[in-house]
Amino acid sequence: MSGKSVPSATPETRQYWEHTAQNEVWMPKCEQHGWVFPPRPHCPTCGTRPLAWQQLSGKGTIASFIISHRAGVGYQDEVPYFIIIVDTAEGPRMVGNLYGVPVTPESVTIGMPVEVFFEDREGVHVPQWRPVGSTVTL
Ligand SMILES: [Zn+2]
Repeated sequence: MSGKSVPSATPETRQYWEHTAQNEVWMPKCEQHGWVFPPRPHCPTCGTRPLAWQQLSGKGTIASFIISHRAGVGYQDEVPYFIIIVDTAEGPRMVGNLYGVPVTPESVTIGMPVEVFFEDREGVHVPQWRPVGSTVTL
């Protein structure tokens, strides 16, 4: 056990975590205004509710990254580590960690293709990221 924080589902995120438990990423989407993430029960623009959920491909590209030298809770054994922002192929941005490459600025580029995988934290599957083609797991 890593000691990393385990996300707890809220009424708004319950479906999100039920889908990640199946190693899939789904998000609510307004037909007019697009993805709503983090999940909400209604569209923040037009108020439509309930929103239909759709599956994302799990593919994306790195929009931004930092290398953290401070251990967040449970990250003591991973310092330094990447924190990245991913432009998913479908559009919404997600934040996560990048694994499968040396933790150096030279290892990544903005626009680098990544794919999701899932870190099991006490049964909760947390989306994480690795370069396309990498088979790294946690
Ligand atoms: Zn809307």
